[in-house]
Amino acid sequence: MIELKNIEKYYSSKGIKHYVLRHVTTTIKQGEFVSIMGPSGAGKSTLLNILGMLEEPTYGTYEFLGEDVTTLKERKRIELYRNHIGFVFQAYHLIDEMTVYENIEAPLLYKKVAGAERASRIADLLDRFNIVAKKDLFPNQLSGGQQQLVGIARALAAQPSIILADEPTGNLQSAQAEQIMELFKKLNVEEGITIVQVTHSEKNAQYGSRILNIADGVVKDDITVASV
Ligand code: ATP
Ligand code: MG
Repeated sequence: MIELKNIEKYYSSKGIKHYVLRHVTTTIKQGEFVSIMGPSGAGKSTLLNILGMLEEPTYGTYEFLGEDVTTLKERKRIELYRNHIGFVFQAYHLIDEMTVYENIEAPLLYKKVAGAERASRIADLLDRFNIVAKKDLFPNQLSGGQQQLVGIARALAAQPSIILADEPTGNLQSAQAEQIMELFKKLNVEEGITIVQVTHSEKNAQYGSRILNIADGVVKDDITVASV
C-alpha cells in the first residue's frame, strides 16, 4: 500500500543543505506491522510524517494506494489522509478545549459521517477503550495513558486502513505501554489494519512483524520479526 522510492529530505540553512533522509526506498504492504527504529535524530519522525502526508519529501516519489502523493493536489491529499490514515502522536495532540467525546468525533465530522452512525461508532470506541466514564472530561483531566487511548480512539474513528504512530508509548508506564501494544497487535491481526510505529523499545518492536532500522538517513536494516 506504500511505496517509497529514493525519498530525500533536507532542510536548508544559510545555503547549506542538511540531509535528514537520503534515498530511502521501501515498500509496506497492507496488513504489515512495521516498527521504525534508530538513534535519536536519525529521521524516524520525519519519515513517519512523510508517510502521514504531514511533511513533503524534497526528492523522490511516494505512492499510497497507487496514488502518487508527491504530485497530488492538496485537496486530494487531505481526502486521502482523512479516508485512510490514523495518526497517533507521542504527545497525544488532543484538542484541549474539546471533551473526550468531541475529540473522537472530530475526524467523523470532517468526513461528514451522519449523526446516528457517528454516535454509534463513538460509543463503540469509548466502550472498547474502557473510557465511557471519561467521555465528558477534558484532556487535562486524564492521565497520560488515558489521553493516549483517546488519541488512538480518535485515529480509529474514521476506520483507517493504516495507523501511523510516533512513539505512542514514549510517555507511558510499562503496563500502559503493553496495553497499547496489545491493542495494536489485535487491530493488526484481527482487523487487518496496517501499523507503522516509531519506537525506541526493542520490546515494543517485537509486537510487530518487521523492523526498519534507520541511521544516517538511510534504511540500514530491514528485519523480519520471528513470530513466536
Ligand atoms: P528522535 O528519536 O529524537 O525523535 P528522530 O529520528 O525522530 O529523533 P527527526 O525528528 O526525524 O528525528 O529529526 C531528524 C533531524 O531533522 C534532526 O537532526 C532534526 O534537527 C532535523 N529537523 C527536523 N525538523 C526540522 C526542521 N523543521 N527544520 C530543521 N531541521 C529539522
Ligand atoms: Mg522522533
